[in-house]
Amino acid sequence: MSILVTRSSMPGIEEYMEEIKPIFESRWLTNMGPVYKKFQHQLMDYLSVPQLSLFVNGHMALEMAIHALGLPCDGGEVITTPFTFVSTTHAITRNNLKPVFCDVKPDDFTIDPSKIEALITEKTVAIVPVHVYGNICDVDAIQKIADKYKLKVIYDAAHAFGVTYKGVGVGNFGDASMFSFHATKVFNSIEGGAVAFHDKQYRVQLHELKNFGIHGQEDTVSVGGNAKLDEFRAAMGICNLRHIDDYISDRGRVVERYDERLGGIPGIRLIKPSPETVTNNAYYPVYFDEKVFGKTRDIVCDELKDQDIFARKYFYPAINELSCYKDKFPQNTPIAHNASTHVLTLPLYEGLDLKDVDKICDIILS
Ligand SMILES: *Cc1c(COP(=O)(O)O)cnc(C)c1O
Repeated sequence: MSILVTRSSMPGIEEYMEEIKPIFESRWLTNMGPVYKKFQHQLMDYLSVPQLSLFVNGHMALEMAIHALGLPCDGGEVITTPFTFVSTTHAITRNNLKPVFCDVKPDDFTIDPSKIEALITEKTVAIVPVHVYGNICDVDAIQKIADKYKLKVIYDAAHAFGVTYKGVGVGNFGDASMFSFHATKVFNSIEGGAVAFHDKQYRVQLHELKNFGIHGQEDTVSVGGNAKLDEFRAAMGICNLRHIDDYISDRGRVVERYDERLGGIPGIRLIKPSPETVTNNAYYPVYFDEKVFGKTRDIVCDELKDQDIFARKYFYPAINELSCYKDKFPQNTPIAHNASTHVLTLPLYEGLDLKDVDKICDIILS
């Protein structure tokens, strides 16, 4: 059987049935019903965040989190990273804002704060950094810059569910943070997402935006869309949340084995979170330096594929090299380019057999 880069974590079917029974009884299927609310409160608890708004997916959560800030769209510039999933940049450009790509740090591939200030102009309105692979950005340095220039900070925390940094839940940094509960993530509600934040007024705006801009029974106050999380997905989220700590520690078992087998091999660099981070074991990114290791990242990827093992080149190409962006926003970001051509993300999921991990390492090291 083939091994994919990830596999969705799921509760037992009986457990899910139990959770959706009340939905069949009430026939309240969506529109922020009781299961949505229960899920929301459990998540606020788990993530230790003061406010949380749930969405149908992470992308719409981020797009609407940016929209709700009411930034001046007419030429407004947003400093962001090119080393991410394309959703991050789309959420900016779909708000009629202009992405300005800042290069990343060579150690953990998060946005490099020392390169942000040079990109700030009178049109800059916000910074959208990404906690890539669950590696937490230098949030203190970013906030210092944001305060100095009065910029909003919206984190793409799609990879960082449940991660803490210096003892603080990552959803507490910046003006807002987006989490994704997509099926391929550490924690899933099939599809789903959330925005964590502090400001109560912002909660009202997010609530309206995801429900067509409707306010009360008789008025619509903004041009919203539809991005509500339904009751069945919320029920899946509640079930998975019950087991999330087990999922994360089981992934830790896989991470440990990879570390044992691949750590210290010349030409292989393991991309690890900082010691101040309590990780969620979301991804296992490996940097291949072909000059020392002897094989390129692409060759390793192909050799694995020949054995029915599907690692992924997260994130290749860099976003500013994709055809929808490369001609319009061609910033030079050499470290992101280097990362995108040298990093391979290895299979990692709850339940992955250590024999398979050994097989993967054998192929890499052969
Ligand atoms: C998954 C992901 C998203 C989008 O989340 P969805 O829930 O799939 O819409 C955004 N940014 C990053 C970095 C992601 O990995």
